[in-house]
Amino acid sequence: MPRKLEQSRRLQKRAEQMIPGGVNSPVRAFRAVGGDPPFIVRGQGSHLWDADGNQYIDYIGSWGPQILGHAAPQVVDAIISATRNGTSFGASTPTEADLAELVISAFPHVQRVRFVSSGTEATMSAIRLARAYTQRKYIVKFEGCYHGHADALLVKAGSGVATLGIPGSAGVPEEFTQYTLALAYHNMDALEEAFNKFKNQIACVIVEPVVGNMGCVPPAPGYLEAVRAVTSRNGTILIFDEVMTGFRVAFGGAQELYAIRPDLTTMGKIIGGGLPVGAYGGPAEIMELVAPLGPMYQAGTLSGNPLAMAAGCVTLRYLREHKEIYDQIDKRSGELVAGVAAAAKEAGVPMTYNRVGSMFTWFFTPAPVTDWTSASKSDTEAFGRFFRSMLDNGVYLPPSQFEAAFLSAAHTEEDVRRTIAAAKQAFALAPA
Ligand SMILES: *Cc1c(COP(=O)(O)O)cnc(C)c1O
Repeated sequence: MPRKLEQSRRLQKRAEQMIPGGVNSPVRAFRAVGGDPPFIVRGQGSHLWDADGNQYIDYIGSWGPQILGHAAPQVVDAIISATRNGTSFGASTPTEADLAELVISAFPHVQRVRFVSSGTEATMSAIRLARAYTQRKYIVKFEGCYHGHADALLVKAGSGVATLGIPGSAGVPEEFTQYTLALAYHNMDALEEAFNKFKNQIACVIVEPVVGNMGCVPPAPGYLEAVRAVTSRNGTILIFDEVMTGFRVAFGGAQELYAIRPDLTTMGKIIGGGLPVGAYGGPAEIMELVAPLGPMYQAGTLSGNPLAMAAGCVTLRYLREHKEIYDQIDKRSGELVAGVAAAAKEAGVPMTYNRVGSMFTWFFTPAPVTDWTSASKSDTEAFGRFFRSMLDNGVYLPPSQFEAAFLSAAHTEEDVRRTIAAAKQAFALAPA
């Protein structure tokens, strides 16, 4: 059943006159899936409403932050009461240390934390800090991992260790990515080879400990341990980019789930409770290189913003006091993901899925997805058809095969049941 779309189409046209593609972040434009992006006017719990009055069960959750659901009353109240006292001062406020205390309680290796305004700033700063600490130039990232849009991190490909970073975006000079080594996720031989080739020159390895940005890809057993071992052996800083996984796959992130300690952790998304926040943290010995204590410069006019700190504090405090939420959303996500996969199987639609707790992806490929190469074998046309049909049936999934979906504490059994029913309909439409 096609939805009413007039208002969203009108708003999209208007926005396109002024904003590139009508969007302030590219994936919102639905280029990967086709169709018209709904303009959202309201969110409550697990549901969204668009400008035409259509209602959706939302599995984007603002790309991760809304683990308590939209407009959670305690978060809204905290933002409103902080707002009454003024929205920004460019001076220290007490709530910054409250949020720092919560972050430090979640990550045992973090003794000091610095707040910024986005995940991009967090990873960019952590890498600068790793370089400052090691006094080395090279960094290693993995294909299919996304760490924000800083120049040196916009490196897609580069097959083989010998290939130096090739920029994945126009406007990034090769010189800016020449110290970025992009290796295949899960390939320990390539990583060992990089360490041999660039001996004592690799400042850091940055990794999504559960990848969310090629779709959800969990680490194989032993992989993160091996990365930890090789970085330790080489005096290289290991950065876990937990912008997505922090407070999502467990209160203490992937490092709690897999019991591995990185040297630096980057955070974002959930720690802002739906407002713009990022953070990077680690041991005092490393963090004390950050200005004003040390020579590594990093600053921000709106960093530690009081509204964002208030929203983050109330969100993290609620999660810390209700850790049963993680079991609840794990179980519910399990039912949802298996239910949709069973419907696909029944309809003869080739599909595999990955899930860690409440983050998951249905890949339209029969083979296991373990890295960018296997993820990219997905039938993105089939995904697009599935996505559009789900949207028409009131289910809002991430508009790309290569983005993880999220379930929140506000999603109900009824939401799950309706989502599986919508998937059955979508698969019934699928060409055989
Ligand atoms: C979202 C994300 C980022 C970037 O965060 P922004 O707030 O969008 O700048 C970085 N790393 C990971 C793993 C992410 O998921």
